[in-house]
Amino acid sequence: MSILNESLAGRLSAPFATGPAMSGREELAPRDGRSYVAGSRDRPLRHVTIPRLLRETVARYGPRDAAIFRAQGERLSWYDLDRRVDALAAGLLALGLGKGDRVGIWSPNRVEWLLTQFATARIGAILVNINPAYQRAELEFALNKVGCAALVLAERFKASEYLRMLRDLAPEMERAEPGRLTAARLPHLRAVAVMSDDPGPGAFSFDALTRLGGPAQQLRLEAVDATLDPDDAINIQFTSGTTGAPKGATLSHFNIVNNAGFVTDRIRLSETDRLCIPVPLYHCFGMVMGVLGCVDKGAAMVFPGEGFEAGATLDAVAAERCTALYGVPTMFTAMLEHQTAHPRDLGALRTGIMAGAPCPVQVMEDVNNRMNMSEVTICYGMTETAPVSFQSFVDDTVEHRCATVGRVHPHLEVKIIGPDGATVPVGQAGELCTRGYSVMKGYWGDPDLTAAAIRDGWMQTGDLATLDEAGFCRIVGRVKDMIIRGGENIYPREIEEFLYRHPDVAQVQVFGIPDSKLGEVVCAWVVAAPGTSPGEEALKAHCAGQIAHFKIPRHILIVPELPVTVTGKPQKFAMRDKMIEWGYSDRPAAG
Ligand code: AMP
Repeated sequence: MSILNESLAGRLSAPFATGPAMSGREELAPRDGRSYVAGSRDRPLRHVTIPRLLRETVARYGPRDAAIFRAQGERLSWYDLDRRVDALAAGLLALGLGKGDRVGIWSPNRVEWLLTQFATARIGAILVNINPAYQRAELEFALNKVGCAALVLAERFKASEYLRMLRDLAPEMERAEPGRLTAARLPHLRAVAVMSDDPGPGAFSFDALTRLGGPAQQLRLEAVDATLDPDDAINIQFTSGTTGAPKGATLSHFNIVNNAGFVTDRIRLSETDRLCIPVPLYHCFGMVMGVLGCVDKGAAMVFPGEGFEAGATLDAVAAERCTALYGVPTMFTAMLEHQTAHPRDLGALRTGIMAGAPCPVQVMEDVNNRMNMSEVTICYGMTETAPVSFQSFVDDTVEHRCATVGRVHPHLEVKIIGPDGATVPVGQAGELCTRGYSVMKGYWGDPDLTAAAIRDGWMQTGDLATLDEAGFCRIVGRVKDMIIRGGENIYPREIEEFLYRHPDVAQVQVFGIPDSKLGEVVCAWVVAAPGTSPGEEALKAHCAGQIAHFKIPRHILIVPELPVTVTGKPQKFAMRDKMIEWGYSDRPAAG
């Protein structure tokens, strides 16, 4: 029995919503003792485009709240959203953009992001999400990799001067007429629109772009609509990629419209709900699970700020009476700390999603008990699969919602395979593979990488997982995250869960560093709980006799914070590199 299961046995007495966890869901269990499951087909797949989905919601819920951007003071009804999307779409047509053209968006969570998402879809242009944390070289790579003809960007965010970085790459903007750029290092880029009243030479202001289209373009929108197909590519997202160049996962309307609908089905979202979205729009958690998930149900979207801040998010939940909240585990950890220091009325909250990284049991429990989220669920997935393939039900048992990522999503097949490619028996760990409507069209311009990732329709996720007899999935690590120490396979997740049991541990990440004797040794980075100062020896003593000696980290560092991506995912590779730089390893990293 894993330490996870032992730890759960006596601890989970919290009053989560519980219910008939299995009724009608037996079909989601594996058969014949093999790790293969197939999702229900009760709700049919929808073969519709994003503009069609939006149109239906506007017709049904027009005057109700659609989107609230608190930092910008913007409040849009579905009617407002529809009108502003069409104005921008007409502007894009006036620029000469059309179906299949790539349009980049480089911005934190702002209303312009939402408008650009729907305006590009309206004319069949492919939205290219550019990570707000990217710097010059990454921007150049992304724009050129997929051949962006236009870029919509914020002027700046925090320390990132987006417009200055773009002008460094394309000094030709100084003399270019807006919409007619020719730049040596960005050969595909013609048009630039800046979220500013003063965009400078060679660029439109975002507002000017929305005024560019006239009646002719407005009229053309309907004709363009008739040419769109749900199977067209409509969005490119660069996968986070801990190593190597980012890959442009290319998704269709069909991929993301359906995934969004199934995600918000499971949390029972409806037009009466208000979803707080602190996760970034550039990631599928924001733009698919959040935005399209709300559009599918007519629920209001509440954006607490341009970037994540725990206090601002809690303020938004309280002031807007949000019923649902999304976040990655580190965001919830920060919110829990903030809520302790400055309690708000979170009484309207009911549900939400914690996803994107392994979700510690303790954090799940606290979110249930202290944030009123008795119907919180966990999702597992990846960008390349639209993203979600597993999710708990709101009435799954306490243990299942804390310790697993739930059961397979509708219309998907999942199998767990061993190193030889064969499906492993139930309970055995192996690589999780997903097949079905949600699998991306491919990596843009990388047929070889696509072929390596999708075999016979199966997306090879690189994640290690187990399936149990009832079909619940546990993510036990990543193929490349596994630490091999002296021949023993170690899954960092298991050690992290164990260290979380120590009351002084607020956050922990476990990873391996090279070692000449053992191949790799285990390291942990720990952020102390407020008001505590755990020592390395005390934490090791906590492990001694409790977990196998080879799992006890050789080095435990107490750090003020963990390096994380914009989505809040801990960057283990950065911690590993630091440890090597600081001389903790006696052998240089292989590869
Ligand atoms: P991304 O494509 O950025 O969404 O990252 C996908 C990866 O995040 C997956 O391949 C997993 O390694 C990880 N991930 C996502 N959700 C979970 C989860 N609930 N538990 C553990 N890992 C997760």
